[in-house]
Amino acid sequence: MRRKRGNLFVISAPSGAGKTTLCQKLKEIVPDVKFSVSYTTRKPRAGEIDGIHYTFVDEDEFRAMIADGEFVEWAQVHGNFYGTSKRRIENTISEGFDILLDIDVQGARQIREHFSDSILIFILPPSMDELKKRLAGRMSDSPEVIARRLKNAIDEIREYKNYDYVIINDVFDDALEEMVAIIIAERVRTSKIEEAWIKENFIKEE
Ligand code: 5GP
Repeated sequence: MRRKRGNLFVISAPSGAGKTTLCQKLKEIVPDVKFSVSYTTRKPRAGEIDGIHYTFVDEDEFRAMIADGEFVEWAQVHGNFYGTSKRRIENTISEGFDILLDIDVQGARQIREHFSDSILIFILPPSMDELKKRLAGRMSDSPEVIARRLKNAIDEIREYKNYDYVIINDVFDDALEEMVAIIIAERVRTSKIEEAWIKENFIKEE
């Protein structure tokens, strides 16, 4: 195999930055990228499917998984628990697929500690005004939820320096292009190429 392992990408953004739509489009145009399905205690929203958008569990199940060490990272976000399965990630990257984790800033920090070569991407909305507008436009959430998310958004934006890349989602197609460019470029990093493969294919005559 040309590459040792797949890459682990972390995408974080304050809610309303357009991360979900970016990730969905990305899935359609970049081959060999898998999306990590998190566990959550949040109730499914309309249209969300168990095992596809999240694996929905209750708090007892979630706590049992923490106790069993099944999560590589977990966090409480907007009052609900979210966690990433260690096994799911390991299986995907050892099969040579890139994996993309859509997780919050607390989770990103934990992932970096565990996977030092993970690649962290932060998505910003075009402006604070636009963010407020986008948050208010989500009919499924109550005013309290929106207010809480706005406060969280500012706290999250403070963390941007821990990320390797910052994308401003102003013009959607430009933001998408930047995200695709990062994923493709990270695939050809020297450190990701299997030395044995180069030797076998190019320098074995020596
Ligand atoms: P939502 O409930 O809107 O789907 O997600 C709320 C927030 O939780 C988002 O910022 C999302 O990135 C984050 N999130 C989703 N899954 C995980 C996870 O497994 N771990 C962590 N730390 N955050 C997550």
